Amino acid sequence: MNDYDLLVVGSANADLVIGVERRPGPGETVLGSDLAVHPGGKGANQAVAAARLGARTALLARVGADDHGRLLLESQRAAGVDTVGVLVGEDPTGVALITVDPSGDNSIVVSPGANARLGPEDVRAAGSLLHASRVVSAQLEIPLETVVEVVRNLPPDGRFVLNPSPPRPLPAEVLAACDPLIVNEHEARVILGDACVSGEPADWARILLAKGPRSVVVTLGAQGALVASAEGVSRVPSVRVDAVDTTGAGDAFTAALAWRLGTGWDLVRAAAYAARVGAAAVTRPGAQASYPTAAEVDALDG
Ligand code: ADP
Repeated sequence: MNDYDLLVVGSANADLVIGVERRPGPGETVLGSDLAVHPGGKGANQAVAAARLGARTALLARVGADDHGRLLLESQRAAGVDTVGVLVGEDPTGVALITVDPSGDNSIVVSPGANARLGPEDVRAAGSLLHASRVVSAQLEIPLETVVEVVRNLPPDGRFVLNPSPPRPLPAEVLAACDPLIVNEHEARVILGDACVSGEPADWARILLAKGPRSVVVTLGAQGALVASAEGVSRVPSVRVDAVDTTGAGDAFTAALAWRLGTGWDLVRAAAYAARVGAAAVTRPGAQASYPTAAEVDALDG
């Protein structure tokens, strides 16, 4: 019996958000809105999204012994995430400095802080957490060697899900473990490079699959998603909603997909559910604050 449906290994950041009329140029200062501080980071977002849906979820991450670290621990616990794997150290909690202009466009600078110190030794020390989890998911806001160590320490029947964000080339060992590799259009372009200059997303999904993952999901925003596996490529429709804020939609999608795979759903069905979760998440502002419960997903029209 596994104790967790999902173990998320990843980043935890404090998002410091200021609204601006326009972004400052070099050497310029502009005045902005009051500062808003929200819990964020792809790992922390995924864990909260999964737990809110009802998944038994744990997070392996690093934060600092500071106010931002306490904010992150508090938001994880409030969502029902087991924080036994959240390590508190001397390095400051990661921070994302975000300016948002009136059109809703973001400019973001990330200071990784403690996230950069989540190392392979932390993964080895968390062996019992990994072995208690049906599915393990990761992203790339932590060191790549840490993700490699996750892949090397998966339980024999464990499933690995990766959202390679921010994108960078991946070693074959990591690609081969992904089931699925989940990318949005931007991430697909970076990973494929010249290989996707022409062609449709369905072609990208096939080319990505040929690089070694057991399965691939390409998310297409309001267009839904594509699923590619040995059985072929399937389109997963999106749910029509009035989008208010797409921040963190990809994290909610990945968390929902990983959880449903862990409960035994096949990939296409799990992706269709994840698309509903992503759609629900864009109807409300913020990242973690926008994540739906399972009842809210079920109540969504379409
Ligand atoms: P990311 O946030 O990583 O860029 P996407 O924008 O592709 O990822 O969004 C992830 C998923 O969330 C999509 O596959 C889709 O299911 C859902 N989604 C995102 N934006 C919308 C939207 N405007 N309407 C409906 N669903 C959406």
